[in-house]
Amino acid sequence: MMLTKHLLIICIISLTFPLFATSEFISLANTTNVGQITMYEVISDSSTEIGSRVMLQAFYWDVPQYLWYITINDTLPEINASGFDAIWLPPPSKAQSGGFSMGYDPYDYYDLGEFNQMGSIATRFGVKSHLVSLLDHCRSLGLSVIGDLVLNHNSGGNQEFNLNTNTNTYTDFSTVASNTFLRGYNDFHPSTFEISDEGVFGEFPDLCHANPYVNESLLQWGEWLRDDIGYDGWRFDYVKGYHSSMVEDWMDVVGGWGVAEFWDGNKELIFSYLDSTENKVSAFDFPLYYTLRDVCNSDGSYDLRNLANPAFLGVMGNRPYQSVTFIANHDTDEIITNKMMAYAFILTSEGYPCVFWKDWQNPALKTPINVLVDVHNRFAKGSTTILYSDEDIYIAQRNGDPGCIIALNDGTEWRGEYVQSKWSSSTLSDYTGQAFDEETNSEGWTEIWAPPKGYTVYSINNTSDLSQETTSSAITSSESTPISSTSDVGDGTTTSDTSLDNNTPGIPVIVTLFILTVLTVLKKFPFRRK
Ligand code: ZN
Ligand code: CA
Repeated sequence: MMLTKHLLIICIISLTFPLFATSEFISLANTTNVGQITMYEVISDSSTEIGSRVMLQAFYWDVPQYLWYITINDTLPEINASGFDAIWLPPPSKAQSGGFSMGYDPYDYYDLGEFNQMGSIATRFGVKSHLVSLLDHCRSLGLSVIGDLVLNHNSGGNQEFNLNTNTNTYTDFSTVASNTFLRGYNDFHPSTFEISDEGVFGEFPDLCHANPYVNESLLQWGEWLRDDIGYDGWRFDYVKGYHSSMVEDWMDVVGGWGVAEFWDGNKELIFSYLDSTENKVSAFDFPLYYTLRDVCNSDGSYDLRNLANPAFLGVMGNRPYQSVTFIANHDTDEIITNKMMAYAFILTSEGYPCVFWKDWQNPALKTPINVLVDVHNRFAKGSTTILYSDEDIYIAQRNGDPGCIIALNDGTEWRGEYVQSKWSSSTLSDYTGQAFDEETNSEGWTEIWAPPKGYTVYSINNTSDLSQETTSSAITSSESTPISSTSDVGDGTTTSDTSLDNNTPGIPVIVTLFILTVLTVLKKFPFRRK
């Protein structure tokens, strides 16, 4: 997270707090109900391990106040139908900036929007009952939930005289409303247990995990989040600020799946960090993110041969099983041009991809992202073989079952190359719906094409799977949220958006088959090639 954002938020609250600190404001946040939850169909194969599909980062900086958990809850059927396996939620605890905070300045770990302190009952995202309802709903759908943990620092304590510094410090957390995990100056650096650790975050009181009380209290909090609230996994914020043993302890005691935010472009430093946790967590792939940022923002002048070189592929290039790949997040969103090329890369490459809410909700990106999430879940399996690369085109094959071929082209014209695929005497289709089908010869050789500043993803065309594939694409019903259902039809040339209204329990089979027939007949239409 970025210090400037925190400081900005604190400035804003100090200016505007008197305007909003009314009882109506507080009660609004407390009384809004989670929408009625009815008839959510559980998708048969949705009970997946975290990391098997695609993660959705379900927030961005400065989401609308107080209703965010409800917004996510209303969107869950669509999230589920799109093929995500987990959502990453923001830090849940009441923070110094109360209802304004994005959660990265935690005050009372056990106040998840339950106690009237720091200006509101709710956190920025809602009240505790909204969070619990959301997590229950996720569980019913087989979606996992990843909690964001700020373990390095606290904020909002009262001033007290600190015998370790002989000054007054804001380290008195003895009056938190939950009356749980009370803290004082010796729970922070400098403590009698330890002078300092790896890092501090601005001026925020820096928790001393070497103090057994702090270590054990945080682990108890983790068990409470797991057992009483319902989290399945963890995102460790700002791990550069504290001992990796804290993360290791958490994974040993609390368990679940974990990913660390070790914000650095140097993959060797990330590997050292992961090793120091005994490799019990994954890492966000910042080095790969920087490579893909350069690919996209160079607008054609980037040498795509780098994508065939593990040195440029971050954590994913060496330890794909520990790489959480991403293109943007709440802190950093720097790709200005050709962003979908980067999404095409991470959603077809090894590693566990994470899609950013803002991109997924961007009308220009949503459908192509959903197509790629579907492609990821169905085809992008196994090891990787580079089939061809030059300055403007990159063609790689995923070798698993069924596998796929990704082609990226950052030139100005359609490009095709003759490559040897793993499929002999087969028909390959571009599941993004842009290129013609291709036949492979008896040794697997075929042409693979990609559009300018774009991408294609080919895989084997098995039209006998048509009915199977379309029935497994999730058709769920919701009382309020139109469902954007991305169906790969036949060879996947077409996507259709299907809105269901309140009175429609599901699409009748006959209507579905009719639509599929029409789309199949028309399937040549969207094909283009220079
Ligand atoms: Zn951060
Ligand atoms: Ca620290």
